[in-house]
Amino acid sequence: MDNQFTYCMPTKVVFGAGVAKKAADYIEGENVLIISDPFLYQNGTAQMLGECMTGKKVAYFYGIEPNPSCESVDEAAALAREIKADCVVGLGGGSSMDVSKIVSCLTTNEGSIYDYYAGGTRVLTKRETMLICVPTTAGTGSEVTNVGVFTNRKVGIKMPMVNQQFWPDMAIIDGELTYTLPAAVTASTGMDAFCHAIEAYWNKESLPICDMLSLGALKMIMENIKKAYDCPTDITARGNMILAALIAGISFSQTRTTGIHAISFPLTTEFGASHGTACSITLPAFIRLCSGGERQAKMTALANYLGYADGMALAEAVEALMVSMNMPVRLHQIGVKESDLEHITKVGLGAAIIQLTPAVMNEETVYALLKSIL
Ligand code: NAD
Repeated sequence: MDNQFTYCMPTKVVFGAGVAKKAADYIEGENVLIISDPFLYQNGTAQMLGECMTGKKVAYFYGIEPNPSCESVDEAAALAREIKADCVVGLGGGSSMDVSKIVSCLTTNEGSIYDYYAGGTRVLTKRETMLICVPTTAGTGSEVTNVGVFTNRKVGIKMPMVNQQFWPDMAIIDGELTYTLPAAVTASTGMDAFCHAIEAYWNKESLPICDMLSLGALKMIMENIKKAYDCPTDITARGNMILAALIAGISFSQTRTTGIHAISFPLTTEFGASHGTACSITLPAFIRLCSGGERQAKMTALANYLGYADGMALAEAVEALMVSMNMPVRLHQIGVKESDLEHITKVGLGAAIIQLTPAVMNEETVYALLKSIL
């Protein structure tokens, strides 16, 4: 193992059931904008968080849709500028947290997200507005990454944006906020976290700290996801799942992801699959692929650690777990036809992260992988 590496995760983490109610203790300044989605506003979670912020002036933007668009970012940024936000709080799944990251920058950087992303040539130079992320799904790990993922509706493309300003100042992680997650979202977001951990582990840019984090996260997910799926009020399983998602997030924040995430982008924008489903549908096939070649010994060690003989047995177990949670495991189940595979291959190969997969990724190999799970 090459033991030269750089590790940097600058976000302060506060973790525990009930900690969200104390968010105000950490906020600097008076004007707070909570960015969230319609569900968390309708069920009162956003207001609960705001009402705990005694002494603060709290405004709400609750228009964030899954796979958030650049238009939503610009609308939220307009409100942040109008109220002169001192602190932006992203409350929700990855969609709301990702939007909060760039909105907290657009208070001090002029213009639209399009000036900085999707062909825009300006660079986000500084962030003076505090950024706090509060996850309500146990999946993306966005609360501890410097990534935001946005959909450019003008061209129908979803792509990540990486920026040093996107590291949240704080992540406030409270498992109680996940108790309302429906079973299907528990499954898909939890398997997204599984993908983060395993993609960091087999990544061409893997590093020893992250390997250890990934092993722990993967074990925790294997032991808890079905419990949380079957029993939404299993407090221990919920706490373990949001902890695993956090650990997996820290792990891939250093390495980035690989082919699974690259291929997920067209599956989401063009076939309407949720992010977690779009990722995990190719997971068993990627485990099989990465269990041969240069990562064979490392993947066998992972499989043994999780209680399986080798990578192939692990792939079988993961697929069975997904089936037990009613998740699709074949592309046709989300509407993909054989005639779509060439296009999905092309778009997937357009994402640079695909080349961090420890296997040859080209038009033939990616097409063959997709065909094997049609
Ligand atoms: P999401 O934020 O899109 O939310 C999905 C649905 O779950 C929404 O309808 C929301 O209302 C609902 N929901 C959220 N919390 C809930 C709760 N506690 N109870 C009931 N319903 C709840 O989903 P997500 O999977 O968390 O995020 C996906 C997005 O994050 C994608 O755009 C993806 O690309 C991005 N992402 C970002 C990173 C990163 O590092 N920035 C990492 C992975 C994924």
